[in-house]
Amino acid sequence: MTILRCSATTCIYNKNELCSKGEIDVIGENARYSDETSCGSFRDRNDEAVKSSCADGCGCEKIKIDCKAEKCTYNENCKCTAAAIGIAGDGACDCRETKCDTFECKC
Ligand code: SF4
Repeated sequence: MTILRCSATTCIYNKNELCSKGEIDVIGENARYSDETSCGSFRDRNDEAVKSSCADGCGCEKIKIDCKAEKCTYNENCKCTAAAIGIAGDGACDCRETKCDTFECKC
């Protein structure tokens, strides 16, 4: 499993820059740059519909990451193999405002 630090503190799963979701999906099928990736699991913490269906888990340092950014050096069969990654998304209101900062294109 990968160590995850996440700066998207506006996400309902974010607990002190750790993620409480247990597993996340990173998207960006044809990404060649970090900016073309995003955390598909981001949910705005003010979204009432999500709030009510969300267990209030603790932030875990290690997390399972499914990733569609297959051009990334760390991607093996749509799983992230990096030891540690950073998701960036200060002030994000939407998943498109987040990105995997660790993305490195093998292209
Ligand atoms: S480091 Fe690469 S494989 Fe891992 S989540 Fe980020 S983009 Fe996906």
